[in-house]
Amino acid sequence: MHFSRIILVALLLVGCDEQSQCNDETQNKNTDIEDTRRQVSSQEKDNTAPHNTEITRQTYTLNKGDTLTHLLRSAGFSFSEVYALADTIKPLYDFKKIQSHTQFDVIKTPNSKTLCFATSFAQVINAKLVEESWEITQNAITTQTEKISRSFAINHSLYQAASDAEVPNNVINSAILAMSHFVDFQREIRQGDQITLNFNSETVTQDAHLFSTFSNPQQLVAISFINQGKHYELYHYQDTFYFKDGKLAQNFLMKTPLNGARLSSYFGKRKHPVLGYTRQHKGIDFSAPIGTPIMAAGKGKVLKASYSRSFGNRVLIDHGNGYHTLYAHLKGFAKGIKHGAHVSQGQTIGFLGNTGLSSARHLHYEVHKNGKVINPLKMKQPSNIQLTGDELHAFKVHINDIEKRYAALVYDSNNKSALD
Ligand SMILES: [Zn+2]
Repeated sequence: MHFSRIILVALLLVGCDEQSQCNDETQNKNTDIEDTRRQVSSQEKDNTAPHNTEITRQTYTLNKGDTLTHLLRSAGFSFSEVYALADTIKPLYDFKKIQSHTQFDVIKTPNSKTLCFATSFAQVINAKLVEESWEITQNAITTQTEKISRSFAINHSLYQAASDAEVPNNVINSAILAMSHFVDFQREIRQGDQITLNFNSETVTQDAHLFSTFSNPQQLVAISFINQGKHYELYHYQDTFYFKDGKLAQNFLMKTPLNGARLSSYFGKRKHPVLGYTRQHKGIDFSAPIGTPIMAAGKGKVLKASYSRSFGNRVLIDHGNGYHTLYAHLKGFAKGIKHGAHVSQGQTIGFLGNTGLSSARHLHYEVHKNGKVINPLKMKQPSNIQLTGDELHAFKVHINDIEKRYAALVYDSNNKSALD
């Protein structure tokens, strides 16, 4: 613990310096190349030219099957320097988490060698070797929010149309989740249906190559959808989607909390995924491969995420309005899922398994209303959730702001993006 405090102090003292070094190097990349060339030619010609201020920066990629030690050795670090680095970095970062294709920048000055690499989106570690000792600092790279608007007609497949319009997968998935309660995307798409998706995407303002293995955080903010002549307008607000008038657009609870089974109910020729429903059976079962992500059926608060003898690993969520949901026999829990955690609708809470009193891999799913078990497939949901009063006013201000920010983009036929 004492050690990490030292590192934190180092971060505060050296942080800015390190970051600006990374910065300057990026901006002066062309100059560096010239400098290197000049160095070579000066060495060829004579030894009077001063070259003790040379700074070089080179990028190395960790190829699949390659080891970090091998990469660092080829970047000019000795075995003992690599071992010392692995040791010094431990309190801040576990090198075992490094993914293949990660890029490393190595900056060399006459007095130091610095290794820069990303640990997550917009987060880098700078490891600086000065006189055989490593100084490790963690730095945040500044990001900017890019606003993107995509309008397109849907002729056959929504996924195909979205992909042709360069809409990222997670954005189209959010749109489908938001609208799946009132549009059946397998059956109700008509020729000429038109959709506009407004979303934002975070990008780093420098050293983008270091983050190539991490996806940019994206958020869908508004949907305008003309389906069979009907116009739906949805806005993302407080972790969920509302219609323009403040009425909740998403169902309070999803009917099935896992993807494969949920989609299978849309295909007539596929077997119904519900297995073994009997009078004594208090929930419904879904069969799917071990490890299938299980989602929170609705926004709520985790009451239990622990092991019980009969249910095995199970999650119990309180959704308010007297509704609870239970997910049993899980293989394990998703990161951060524990008593008291807040979850959003569709968030992964655990993984399908075969724990507790279970004879085969499956999800056992229950919905409780005011303490009584109800049939999730026949449940009537509170569909009249509507923002009112101050909440409605704040929502209107929010959507006016979105309209204004995206207006220029929406009417731009080229669908260009803009920065904040
Ligand atoms: Zn069951």
